[in-house]
Amino acid sequence: MSLNLLAKKLAYYAYKHLGIDELDMIYLENILLGEFGISTPSKEEFNKEEIDNMLVPDKLIEELNSLTNYENKTIFSTKIMGLLTPRPSSINNKFWELRKKGLNKESLDYLYNLSIKNNYIQKTAIDRNIKWKYEIDESFIEITINLSKPEKNNKDIAKALLQPQTEKYPKCLLCKENLGFYGTNNHPSRQNIRIIPLKLNNEAFFMQYSPYSYYPHHVIIINDLHTPMSICRETFIRHADFVDTIPEYFIGSNADLPIVGGSILSHEHYQGGGYLMPLMYSKDRFIIETSNPELKLSYLDWFNSCICIKTKNKELLIDSLDKLRIKWSSYDDLECDIISHTNNIRHNTITPILRKVNDEYIAYVILRNNRTNEKYPDGIFHAHPEYHNIKSEGIGLIEAMGLFILPGRLDRQCKEMERILSQKIDLTSYFDENPDMLIHKNMIEYLMKQNSTNYQIMIKEYINEVCMHILENTAVFKNTEIGNNHAKKFIESINL
Ligand SMILES: [Zn+2]
Repeated sequence: MSLNLLAKKLAYYAYKHLGIDELDMIYLENILLGEFGISTPSKEEFNKEEIDNMLVPDKLIEELNSLTNYENKTIFSTKIMGLLTPRPSSINNKFWELRKKGLNKESLDYLYNLSIKNNYIQKTAIDRNIKWKYEIDESFIEITINLSKPEKNNKDIAKALLQPQTEKYPKCLLCKENLGFYGTNNHPSRQNIRIIPLKLNNEAFFMQYSPYSYYPHHVIIINDLHTPMSICRETFIRHADFVDTIPEYFIGSNADLPIVGGSILSHEHYQGGGYLMPLMYSKDRFIIETSNPELKLSYLDWFNSCICIKTKNKELLIDSLDKLRIKWSSYDDLECDIISHTNNIRHNTITPILRKVNDEYIAYVILRNNRTNEKYPDGIFHAHPEYHNIKSEGIGLIEAMGLFILPGRLDRQCKEMERILSQKIDLTSYFDENPDMLIHKNMIEYLMKQNSTNYQIMIKEYINEVCMHILENTAVFKNTEIGNNHAKKFIESINL
């Protein structure tokens, strides 16, 4: 295998899988030869059928990596995949052309599959994630141990510290300026990303797929401006505009406060996708009468505190959501430990989600509060300390809807727990030698007391219970008679 033959194969791959015109193949082959520092093309033939059948570009990228000698192979291979992909504007045009013809599903499949074929979504790595479903009565939650999102190691952090402290470009991972960004040791290469501009509430936004694809067709909808997250009336208008434009996808926003929100609060963005989250299968726990026959209001039988609003009337939807937001933002319920403000700092917020089924808007509003106290310094309505060995990060939008993304370290640590249990390892000095396992001490001691020898199942069941309890921890109104009565009292007080 030689680099000039690889150039020929890559150009053919771009023609076959990325929508490059036949005329552009010679052009691309020459561009690639230039990149590789070679002046003459290969005269050899290659197996076209093998390339025709490729579902992912992994094999070609492996060949590229084995034949080249760049210090940062990821940046180089991303650059090559970016070169093979049509320009952002051309992809955007094709996307809207398909939608104009009524080929809505095809337009989304086009962008999603292209993002896999050009290695922006690294499907092979994502498919290695460990996933399962935990059924609880009539509900379920989904759990993923995420092996594909790279955990930052100390070496990366040290390298980042050595970077000159000039103003960062792009400002963050979500900024539009990532489009085509070459990449550095501490900011990923984005030469192969493609985005779809959208107008939401007459403001410029754009949609892109998440490279980590936590669920099928996982998209991020991002403000063109690097402006902080905030939940306000405009949020609901943008959400409604989004589901009017792309009704195949839901959209949701992380809360605008730390602990109960996502990991990036500095840049306004929403998440969405063509996937029904566990929350969306929930039945009503109770229904609330409204004064408007066009509006249906209920409280869901879900693990945290979620209100559901259904209507076909967009104005009514936005007004109702905004009334709910305003009412909740200063709502106190001391019996349920809900204090909206301390020292003028707001703790109440919401996680709003919207989808459209036929002509009806279905909104889910999860009530959140990020207050801390002495007993719960990490958050009263946050995962309690006894569950932090499984998950300690904030419970954002995706988890609040019942899809848990657990850290990759758990794969190794669960295997180690299995070994401890099956070999009945003495724990006296174990944690001195294995300090990273110390966080699991209580879990291991608990499992040791159980009678079962099916350790793998025991560990999994333990994780299942923990995830369910974490969701219950985040409920501001607990699923008790008092909690449900107080939830009802709150919803009635909005006066919808
Ligand atoms: Zn940004």
